[in-house]
Amino acid sequence: MSNRKSFDAAIVGGGPAGLIAAILVAKTGANTVCLAPRPLRVDTRTSALMRGSLDIMSDAGVLPSLVEKSAPLKTIRIIDDSGHLFRGPPVEFNCSEAGGEPFARNFQNSDLVEALQAKAGDQENLTLLDEAAAAINPGDNVVKINTTSNLELTVDLVIGADGRMSPCRKAAGISSKTSKLPQSALVFNVDHTLPHEYVSTEFHRHAGPLTLVPLPGNRSSVVWVETHEKASDYKNLDDIAFTEIFGEMTYGVLGNIRALGPRAMFPLSNLSVEDAGRGLIALVGEAAHVVPPIGAQGLNLGFRDAATIAQLIGNSSNETNSARAIVQDYALRRKRDISTRSGFVNLLNRSLLSDFLPVQMLRSSGLAALANITPLRKVAIRAGIGPRV
Ligand SMILES: Cc1cc2nc3c(=O)[nH]c(=O)nc-3n(C[C@H](O)[C@H](O)[C@H](O)COP(=O)(O)OP(=O)(O)OC[C@H]3O[C@@H](n4cnc5c(N)ncnc54)[C@H](O)[C@@H]3O)c2cc1C
Repeated sequence: MSNRKSFDAAIVGGGPAGLIAAILVAKTGANTVCLAPRPLRVDTRTSALMRGSLDIMSDAGVLPSLVEKSAPLKTIRIIDDSGHLFRGPPVEFNCSEAGGEPFARNFQNSDLVEALQAKAGDQENLTLLDEAAAAINPGDNVVKINTTSNLELTVDLVIGADGRMSPCRKAAGISSKTSKLPQSALVFNVDHTLPHEYVSTEFHRHAGPLTLVPLPGNRSSVVWVETHEKASDYKNLDDIAFTEIFGEMTYGVLGNIRALGPRAMFPLSNLSVEDAGRGLIALVGEAAHVVPPIGAQGLNLGFRDAATIAQLIGNSSNETNSARAIVQDYALRRKRDISTRSGFVNLLNRSLLSDFLPVQMLRSSGLAALANITPLRKVAIRAGIGPRV
């Protein structure tokens, strides 16, 4: 490739949101480049991706290769283990109440990114570069991007999928608000003796939820939200002591732990943006929103961002919309979904952390209503699965 090149669209960032955006945008026929520096570390997390995200993965052509490596979530069980004075009853949702298809599938992030990289590498109209954007300069009609190997790219529209520190967000002049939460998530996988029966169990504890998510076989991934101090203490325990505490916290629902994967710790924060796009730059994934890992919303939102921008780019070829109009439309369309989901996740998190009795009462009566009132259960299921794009 010569040192200078023009593209219809550039995706900056090769995480899961960026790669799926790149594939979907290239499928519209747009001449696309994706700046996707290979990650330095393997992501040991998993992602539960809801039905809408599975449809998006299907459209991108990556679902078939991942089905065997993922596990379906057929039942979601919530157990109020908050220790509060007012506690709710256990609540269980089964996918038979919602048409029978699993609510979601749980993927190892490393498998997901590998499959997306492979698909992106084969995709027509898509140039995949293993390097970062060193400078992003928006002009009136095009954006100039200089890469770390000194390529000069001229593009009509940029999709910033460059994570929570997002250089694209900065280049677009979009301000963001970050708040650090008093919690960290301890993340690891376990092999266990009892079958999970494709049930995802959420223990709603005072410091945050402890969630068990099925993986293929007798394996589960765990997201355990705690105070920073406790998460750090637990991370540093030896395997035997840790396994014992984990068994107590989860009331032995998985039986004995046969093997324990490496433990990683993620300090939690929120990030919200003024707008999900401005000028010629649209933001997708964590460049546009960071939410704590409660109710598996983060990447599901990111996939809906990716599908929406691709859809608008696809439609624009018929309607000759300018890149500026596409970005404006995108920011408008994504506003509600992003703000409602982020608001809901934060409300749930705060209700667990709260020592204020009326809040505890509201939470427990909310759970009682969810356990017993059918129309409310239907609304909750629809909200949990998320909208389709
Ligand atoms: C413990 C935990 C559990 C979670 N579980 C779930 C779940 O079950 N379901 C769910 O939906 N979500 C979940 N999430 C959220 C999910 O992990 C994130 O939403 C997702 O990983 C974000 O992907 P992304 O592509 O937006 O960002 P990232 O994965 O951060 O990717 C950003 C990429 O941009 C690249 N980049 C940065 N700067 C540049 C540059 N200048 N040029 C080029 N590239 C650049 C980086 O190298 C990186 O590869 C969880 C989060 C946590 C913390």
